[in-house]
Amino acid sequence: MKNLIFVVLFIVPLLSIGQDCYWQQEVDYKMDIDFDVDKHQFKGKQVLKYTNNSPDTLDKVFYHLYFNAFQPGSMMDERSRTIQDPDPRVGERIAALTESEIGFQKVNSLKQDGKSLDYVVEGTILEVKLDKAILPGASTVFEMDFLGQVPLQIRRSGRDNKEGVDYSMTQWYPKLAEYDFMGWSANPYIGREFHGVWGDFEVNIKMDSKYKMGATGMLQNADKIGFGFQGENVEQPKLKKKVTWNWKADNVIDFAWVADRDFTHISKKAHDGTMMNFIFQPGEETTEKWEMLPEIMDEALKFMNANYGKYQFPQYTFIQGGDGGMEYPMITLITGERSLGSLVGVCIHEWMHSWYQFTLATNESLYSWMDEGFTSFASAEIMNHLATKGLIPGARVRDNVHAGSTMGYAMFSQSGMEEALSTHSDHYNTNTAYGRGSYTKGSVFLSQLEYIIGEKPFRKGLLRYYDTWKFKHPTPNDIIRIMEKESGIELDWYKEYFVYTTKFIDYGIVDVIESNGGSKISLERVGEMPMPVEVLIKKKDGSSELHYIPMRIMRGDKDFGDQKFVQQKDWPWTHRSYEFMSKVKASDIESIRIDPSLRMADVVMDNNEWMPK
Ligand SMILES: [Zn+2]
Repeated sequence: MKNLIFVVLFIVPLLSIGQDCYWQQEVDYKMDIDFDVDKHQFKGKQVLKYTNNSPDTLDKVFYHLYFNAFQPGSMMDERSRTIQDPDPRVGERIAALTESEIGFQKVNSLKQDGKSLDYVVEGTILEVKLDKAILPGASTVFEMDFLGQVPLQIRRSGRDNKEGVDYSMTQWYPKLAEYDFMGWSANPYIGREFHGVWGDFEVNIKMDSKYKMGATGMLQNADKIGFGFQGENVEQPKLKKKVTWNWKADNVIDFAWVADRDFTHISKKAHDGTMMNFIFQPGEETTEKWEMLPEIMDEALKFMNANYGKYQFPQYTFIQGGDGGMEYPMITLITGERSLGSLVGVCIHEWMHSWYQFTLATNESLYSWMDEGFTSFASAEIMNHLATKGLIPGARVRDNVHAGSTMGYAMFSQSGMEEALSTHSDHYNTNTAYGRGSYTKGSVFLSQLEYIIGEKPFRKGLLRYYDTWKFKHPTPNDIIRIMEKESGIELDWYKEYFVYTTKFIDYGIVDVIESNGGSKISLERVGEMPMPVEVLIKKKDGSSELHYIPMRIMRGDKDFGDQKFVQQKDWPWTHRSYEFMSKVKASDIESIRIDPSLRMADVVMDNNEWMPK
């Protein structure tokens, strides 16, 4: 009896760690913004209802004040002037900003449930000591008055971007930091990636009526604003000198908007009812290509819905702005003067972030590879699909769309610059290591996973991951667990090697000798990272056989579907060498090749192929 009580007391808390006790905080913002286009400043009133769903009592909160990064001497400025390979968009530009060109967010007052609070500004973070601690399950209301100044466009946000877009308004309001099972994410704004709290936004922006706008969310007073948002038979209304745009967005992690005097707006309802907006400055470099986007994006959306899960929001807006391509909920800011191929490429990539960031909201600061990498993985497949449909003139259709990333990562892993994917995105030593890790290795994480478990369980797993974790904050373990459940294979080793280390893959063929009327093939593991191995034996008569060597720690085998293969015994990861037999006589062999489908990121290719002398 005593033992039983011990077991119950001890086991119950362990069992409760996992998805069942998953929790996340909630924010509901109402903001009234009064924008002064002469001063490039805006007054804001923010009412924020914050619900603490955590099991912890909170006695402080943090807000991001991102615009403060665009001031000489800020952490972003210092970092961009001292990193070995600066982002050319930033470089030394922040240091050169004058008083009227810098950005800021000044908090004039902050109250909690009507009582004034003490707070301290530390660069881009507002530290707030609460008057009344927030108990688990309780809500509180913060009221803030603030003044913002829009910086000259340096990175993502700002005024007067290089294509002349007036206001790219991203990371523009005091935004509550996320608190999750890992604690507070009060990351100073250095340059890369974000983590946001799920919630609802109502944002009313009062501005000179010469400016046209696109934003996260749905425009509530569309008939009063016009500009292509109004109902079908509604004429463009006459506007007063200043007009208030009333936006609402449900269940998002951020809110962005863009305004410009020269914008034009085209829209199309996609096959599934999603409203797609395309907002740009008309001109020689833009109009013809932007007018081709609605049809192309509708075809892309069909493929995206089918392969990565259904798009979860009623609307999506592609808008000219920013400094390249940057994703936000229900909207992306992209520079618009591009070739059609580049324009489509960036539109696809940024929209795909609506899956891998704005539905599956990973903590991008910690797991930038889970949004940039997975987005890159899907984008490559979507672009290939559009090429097969002939929608992008001159685009090549590929057999293995992920071969480029696989080779790119394999080469980079030998450069001496690689850092583990588990590095916080702001803390990589170089921009190159961040980029190759997050985009390229992050994409290979998925394509290689498909190689390990097989196409069918992988594709089912990808949809199940989306379905299970939508509108939450999944972690690396969550996608691995889903793939384990779909495949029946243990995959913890894959995550541990590929995410937490820079150990690389290299297998080689050592020897092939005639034995018992067949041949004995000897392999070696040269790299530290173990993998299941596939070996193709090509015969001189044109036929071939594929051999499959799983790892012992997988405790299961790949699903080859209809593909024929010869099962070999497990290869324990502790063993550097391995031998197997083929019935094919050595003298009948034309060639032997490790990883014939080129899906494994093997860093040395010379030792992957064997041919008789
Ligand atoms: Zn991206």
